[in-house]
Amino acid sequence: MQAAVQDISQHPKNALKNEIREGLESGRFEAMSPEEILTWSIKNMHPRLALSCSFGNPEGLVLLDMMHRIEPSSRVYVLGTGRLHQATYDLIDRVRDRYDKEVEVVFPDAASVEAMVREHGMNLFYESLEKRKLCCRLRKVEPNAAYLRELDGHVTGLRRAQNVTRTDAAKVELDGHGLVKVNPLVDWTSKDVWDYVREHQVPVNRLHTEGFPSVGCAPCTRAIKAGEDPRAGRWWWENPDTKECGLHVDEEADGSGI
Ligand code: SF4
Repeated sequence: MQAAVQDISQHPKNALKNEIREGLESGRFEAMSPEEILTWSIKNMHPRLALSCSFGNPEGLVLLDMMHRIEPSSRVYVLGTGRLHQATYDLIDRVRDRYDKEVEVVFPDAASVEAMVREHGMNLFYESLEKRKLCCRLRKVEPNAAYLRELDGHVTGLRRAQNVTRTDAAKVELDGHGLVKVNPLVDWTSKDVWDYVREHQVPVNRLHTEGFPSVGCAPCTRAIKAGEDPRAGRWWWENPDTKECGLHVDEEADGSGI
């Protein structure tokens, strides 16, 4: 007897992806507020959904606050690169206390980092773009990819105005790894973000008051001067077109690698 052909469109994940494709075509997601997008995401994916938060941008903390209000057990993770500022570690602990929340710290593979440092030195990232990307790959991109393999979706604080490489981000996307990527703040301005921080007294990185609009790894972030582009302090020795760590670049789609 011939086996019945399984209708995979009825599988929960495929149904969700179909809903996303329809939402993208109809523009439904674009019309939704960040809270509405997060409520929809949590309803469809929690607990296989997590917020990716660097604890170095106010956007991530705004989303953490919103998600916590919607679902107190919503998940958040940070890439523990081993090179973060002390202020960032302090903020992670403040968030744990303020929200009574577990922050999932994702560490790189120790043997890979050890081998990289032995071959290229502690500060290889200043020597060439290739070595900077190698460090980002081992400390960020690969641990992030391994963590995401356990999830259905992830939430990011991307805004279209942040960088020339982010202008086409949508509120809900299917990324190159088959995951749902949720970017609720894509159409927010920096003012919108800071207004929310003040109104809800969201804890943020104290280095923002010392000229750091964005706080990444300590050796790769500096304070900026008045009038400089907000991302000028990240990998400041590089061309603006290359300023991504690989986390938000769809390497498979553009073929650029990391
Ligand atoms: Fe390495 Fe700098 Fe990338 Fe951090 S930001 S992973 S220190 S190259």
